[in-house]
Amino acid sequence: MINDCFFKLSGAYLFSEIAQKVKAYKAEAPRADIISLGIGDVTQPLCPAVIEALHKATDEMAVAASFRGYGPERGYDFLRDAIVEHDFRARGIDIDADEVFVSDGAKSDTGNFQELLSKDVRIAVTDPVYPVYVDSNVMAGREIVYLPCTAENGFVPQAPLLSPQVGKNTSPLGEDGRGLVIYLCYPNNPTGTTLTRDQLKVWVDYALQNNALIFYDAAYEAYIQSEDVPQSIYEIPGAKQCAMEFHSYSKTAGFTGIRCGYTVVPKGVKSERMKSEKSGLLETISLNSLWNRRQSTKFNGTSYLSQRAAEAIYTPEGKTQVKATIAYYMENARLMREVLTDMGFTVYGGVDAPYLWVRTPNDMKSWEFFDWMLRSAHVVCTPGVGFGSAGEGYVRLTAFGTHENTKEALRRVNDKL
Ligand code: PLP
Repeated sequence: MINDCFFKLSGAYLFSEIAQKVKAYKAEAPRADIISLGIGDVTQPLCPAVIEALHKATDEMAVAASFRGYGPERGYDFLRDAIVEHDFRARGIDIDADEVFVSDGAKSDTGNFQELLSKDVRIAVTDPVYPVYVDSNVMAGREIVYLPCTAENGFVPQAPLLSPQVGKNTSPLGEDGRGLVIYLCYPNNPTGTTLTRDQLKVWVDYALQNNALIFYDAAYEAYIQSEDVPQSIYEIPGAKQCAMEFHSYSKTAGFTGIRCGYTVVPKGVKSERMKSEKSGLLETISLNSLWNRRQSTKFNGTSYLSQRAAEAIYTPEGKTQVKATIAYYMENARLMREVLTDMGFTVYGGVDAPYLWVRTPNDMKSWEFFDWMLRSAHVVCTPGVGFGSAGEGYVRLTAFGTHENTKEALRRVNDKL
C-alpha cells in the first residue's frame, strides 16, 4: 500500500502546471516569443570569483594528493567557518560552526526538517506560502493551519492562535500538547514583503511563550535593502532557543544549478519526547543532534566543488561581484514597480525582495489574468492563487529576468492593457 497522504496534495506542483499551460500555448502559437517572469530561476551567470574557485577545485580533484571523496557530514570547515564569520559574527550574531549544516539547498532542508517532529505537531504557514512547507507536511499526514497575509493586514501574519475567537478547544496551540511549528519566510516568496525587527520579535516572543518552533526561511536575505528589516532571525533575542534558519546560495549567488545552502540548528533549541507513557515522563532532546543523526543517515553531503564555490562568495571580490548581480536584479524590481504602478496596478514587494505581488485588474481571478498575460502579451507570470487561497486576485512577477526581457515584458503589457 502506498502513502495515502500523497492524494491529499493539491493537484500538480504549481510550476509543472504553468509549464504545461505554456507548452500547450506554444503548440497553438509556435511563433510567439514568450518571456517568463514566472518561475524564480536566475538568469545571470556565476560571478568570476565562483568560476575561479570551481576551476581550482576541479584541478584539485584531478590529482590523487588533493582529490576529495566523501566530505564531513556537516560540511567542510572552510565553508562553515566562512558562514559563521561573514553571515553571523560580522552582524553581531554568535553562531557556532557546529550549529551550521551545509546542504544542497534550502528546498531539501525546509522540506525534510519536519521529519524530526511527531506526526501530531500542527503546522502553521502563511497564506500565500512557498508550497514546499505545505506539501512536505501533507505528505507526512500533518494538519496545517493557515495565517492569511493580505493587503488588509499589510501582509504581516497575525498570531490568531491565541485570539479568543479561535475558541479554547480549537486552539491549534493545543492545550492537548500536540505542539506547533510556524514556517516564516522573509523576505517573502511569493509576496516580496518583509517583517521589521519589531514584527519578527512578536513571533519569537510568541514561540518562546508557547513552546512553539519557528522554521525561518531566509533564502532571500541578500536582497534586503531596508535598515529595519532583519537579515537573520537570530538578530532577535531568544531566537536561538526556538528557531531554525534556512539559507540558500541559489538567489544570493546564482547557485540554482550548482546547489548549495545551509541550515542553522542552534544547540539551544530543544524538543521533547515521551520517555515513559506510563509515568508521563518527558525527555528533552537537542534538535541539533537529532538533525545531525538524520543527515548522516540520509544525506551524503554537498559536493566539494559546490562548497568551494560557496566559500568564494565570502572573499572581498566575491562579495563585490555578488552584490553587483543582486543590484542588477533589484534594478529590474525597481523598474517593474515604477512602470506597473504608472500603468495603474497595485504592486507590493520588490523593495527588499526580487518578487512583486501584483493585484490583478478589475478583480480578475489569478489564472484568468495569467491566461491574458500569456495570450495577449506573451508574458508568463505565476498565479497568486497557486500559493494559497489568499493569493487569489494576485500574480507574482520575478525580477530575475534580463534587463532587456523585463523592459520588453513591461512594454507589451502596457500595449495590450
Ligand atoms: N525557499 C524559498 C522561499 C524559495 O523561494 C526557494 C526557491 O525558490 C527555496 C527555498 C529553494 O532554494 P534552493 O534552490 O536552495 O533549494
